[in-house]
Amino acid sequence: MRGWRAAMGIALATHLITMSSATVAAPCLVVTLTGTAGGPQQPFNGLASSGTLVRYGEDANNCGAVKLQFDAGRGTTMRLSQLGVGTEQLNAVFFTHMHNDHTEGFADLVQSRWAFHGIGPKIDAVCSADVVSLQGFTVSCRKFVSHIADAFIQSGEIAQRHSEVKERTAGGPAELVNTITFDPKDEPQVVWTIAAVSVSAIRSTHIPGNASYRVDTPAGSVVIGGDAANDTLAPPRKWSTSDQVETLAKGADIIVHSAIHPVMGPTTAAECIPMPIIARRRCRCEVLDVNASDPADRGRSAISLQGAWQPADRGRLQESSPGRWVFTGQVIVGTDLASLRVPAK
Ligand SMILES: [Zn+2]
Repeated sequence: MRGWRAAMGIALATHLITMSSATVAAPCLVVTLTGTAGGPQQPFNGLASSGTLVRYGEDANNCGAVKLQFDAGRGTTMRLSQLGVGTEQLNAVFFTHMHNDHTEGFADLVQSRWAFHGIGPKIDAVCSADVVSLQGFTVSCRKFVSHIADAFIQSGEIAQRHSEVKERTAGGPAELVNTITFDPKDEPQVVWTIAAVSVSAIRSTHIPGNASYRVDTPAGSVVIGGDAANDTLAPPRKWSTSDQVETLAKGADIIVHSAIHPVMGPTTAAECIPMPIIARRRCRCEVLDVNASDPADRGRSAISLQGAWQPADRGRLQESSPGRWVFTGQVIVGTDLASLRVPAK
């Protein structure tokens, strides 16, 4: 048991050391897709479900002084392990919304932290406050977190493991999560900060309580749009993209946004996506967009592409106004573990 405590002490000390280095010069930002499968679909070719890891720091700590996870779909911990990022290293998890393809990996994530770092520190879970839908049901991130391990509490698993290692909190993984909620607004608001890193959120259109995020660091900025769509969910409309995400993305270096590719549309695919859904987003897979209009062109880099990406899809994803582009940079259809670094190396 003494060894367990020592291990915890080392982990905490390492955390403090790396945090203090977050303000040192030569900062860098790394954005990595931890999952690119979307929707309540069957598993496909080993892809993990939605998630993005944002790391910030400097060369000396491999841009890893701060580690933020945005959404945590199926397989998130597996992808993090491929990056050498243990669940205990995450500072916070942010949820864009409560769809299961963005959340179901969170149980695995916090269970892992609880099992091996059962005395903490707590991880922050940042998400929207409870919201009642027009249909009358409530979307509650807070309840999602507080009940995250209920099945394992009911099965006796939590009590059994607590009996083995008393440092593991008796109430299970939920006791090691500090839930921070906010009311999404039409203008960006800062919802979380650490050292020189701040995270802002904006209301966006998808399901009740939906939010998109922006991370600002001395190295650059990244926006995680999530499943955000246009306020008008179906044509006719002037364009299909999210006005809120575009507000949030002004001057950002990288945008990560989920979308549905036209080849998945009802008229082209044998296994098609219904029009009401494909109208919400135009391209399947997560998209990494590097804003090359930045004077220093600092974020531009190439990663492997997945699938065909038509020239017309570059820039703003729009339906009826060709020529109206928001992004002048490169649009990349990213697969799992696709990664961009700012500044590019
Ligand atoms: Zn969704």
